[in-house]
Amino acid sequence: MVLKMSSLFLRTLREDPADAEVTSHRLLVRAGYVRRVAPGIFTMLPMGLRVLRNVERVIREEMNAIGGQELEFPALLPREPYEATGRWTEYGDTLFRLKDRRQADYLLGPTHEEMFTLAVKDLCSSYKDLPLTLYQIQTKYRDEARPRAGVLRGREFVMKDSYSFDVDDDGLRAAYARHREAYIKVFDRFGLDYVICSAVSGAMGGSASEEFLAICDIGEDTFVRCANGDYAANVEAVVTPPPAALPIEGQPAAQVVDTPDTPTIETLVDLFNTREDLRRADRDWAAGDTLKNVLLMLTLPDGKREPLAVGVPGDREVDLRRLEAQVAPAEVAPMSEAEFAQHPALVKGYIGPGALGEKNPSGIRYLVDPRVVDGTTWITGADEPGKHVVHLVAGRDFTPDGTVEAVRVADGDLCPIDGGALEQARGIEIGHIFQLGRKYAQALGLSVLDQNGKAQIVTMGSYGIGVTRALAVVAEQTADERGLCWPRELSPADVHVVAAGKTEEIRAGAERLATQLEAAGLSVLLDDRKDVSPGVKFNDSELLGVPTIVVVGKRLADGMVEIRDRKSGSKEEVAADAAVAVVQNAVTTSR
Ligand code: ATP
Ligand code: MG
Repeated sequence: MVLKMSSLFLRTLREDPADAEVTSHRLLVRAGYVRRVAPGIFTMLPMGLRVLRNVERVIREEMNAIGGQELEFPALLPREPYEATGRWTEYGDTLFRLKDRRQADYLLGPTHEEMFTLAVKDLCSSYKDLPLTLYQIQTKYRDEARPRAGVLRGREFVMKDSYSFDVDDDGLRAAYARHREAYIKVFDRFGLDYVICSAVSGAMGGSASEEFLAICDIGEDTFVRCANGDYAANVEAVVTPPPAALPIEGQPAAQVVDTPDTPTIETLVDLFNTREDLRRADRDWAAGDTLKNVLLMLTLPDGKREPLAVGVPGDREVDLRRLEAQVAPAEVAPMSEAEFAQHPALVKGYIGPGALGEKNPSGIRYLVDPRVVDGTTWITGADEPGKHVVHLVAGRDFTPDGTVEAVRVADGDLCPIDGGALEQARGIEIGHIFQLGRKYAQALGLSVLDQNGKAQIVTMGSYGIGVTRALAVVAEQTADERGLCWPRELSPADVHVVAAGKTEEIRAGAERLATQLEAAGLSVLLDDRKDVSPGVKFNDSELLGVPTIVVVGKRLADGMVEIRDRKSGSKEEVAADAAVAVVQNAVTTSR
């Protein structure tokens, strides 16, 4: 097919769109691939749609290769199944809800576990019907709090979602492993630089859930990896290896101390280091020896609110997102002044483990960082104005209600596999594979009869790829200062032919070459615009990002054309007669 730019529904822009925060968004709009309709809602123009179709094709090929069967559910869905699994409420404000003319509740599907589960329940009854992998490439709706960066985080977006159905755990593990391999092939074909991160805490060793993160500074996800290469995890899933417990015997008794004029942790630590009677024998007190207690409010999906106290070493901050991942689906916010005032046992600035905990005066659930093991000794609030307590020993003087992974992960933290140093980087989630287990099948009553005629609840996996997001992520990772730069698999055309000159010979020559390239099985973008200068056409060819550009210009008179490689910028003059073969070779060898 030859796409002629003289008639193509495409306008490239000279100016960056005012609302574009990231490179991919800026370039996709400027190059005429997408247009914004409303926040997080975009139109795919012909060029964008061509790339999107290629993304889908690659995904489809790899899904089919692992035995996935494609189907398509509606986006407009009834409330009942989502009520049965609790997600009508759990999804909170993210769910687009609507009513029909009879006032019945509907939603626009944010993901389709319920529908797949019910479809299999509808049609399958025996273990002989399984294993089964079903998928769709379909439009999802989520009323994201922060739609961002163009199609990277939309409120309407395309997702590939697949689901596996098995009778037993081994089957689920095998289906999960097949998806993992398929995702590796997909993202390799996209040419992405990515990591596979463990996504659920406690899933060490096992892999009940992993995320594929494209490595990218503008990403919203932070992940860590071990310098030794044996561990990568989303920060939310990082497991802190707890230090060994310390002996309690022989530790000094806890002592309450007047601590005036110590508004910061630094001044507090200074006071303990400068007072002879309070100094440590072995070393100076440090910020990490103080136990900072942070008060928060959880909001549960049904709207109920519940206080939570988190104790962390004073040299650490609480990372609300990390904490939120541990208490999901509850949301976390700092406790307000008014809420704080309702707990008379809490003394602002001097809150200690003496007041916290379900069995203590405040009754507030108290969770501590995993580093607070038995035998560790702390400086912390004494629950009296102007006073702290020192030598407060965990397991002797206080017992929290449990531990929680809530502190901001820092470079140099220990790897839970081998104790190596962790380092952080940013990424964008492009895929997620997840062993769901029996939760949805249980909630919706999906079981099959086994060999012995006994009903067995089916076990499921759920696997997603952000299709529109993948398009943007590839654009983001491959773009350079001159514009988009598509990998062959995804490019809207195999070759971009530029008619660089106003003469009829040049235009006819370019057209002829485009037709020959097309006859050779290639898709061709032809810049045959009449009143556009060669300079503007060259800039546009770089902005549009087709990997191979053929310039038909003045040298055609000598039988020569120029072949440019978009990525490296290299140029080569070849005989016009040989151009088709050269381009074909470039297309096949770099695919
Ligand atoms: P995120 O953490 O980025 O919000 P998620 O964990 O909610 O994503 P999943 O429910 O696992 O996402 O969805 C599967 C895939 O769909 C994700 O891996 C991501 O690539 C894509 N995706 C999710 N939300 C969006 C969105 N708002 N816009 C575009 N793609 C999205
Ligand atoms: Mg996810």
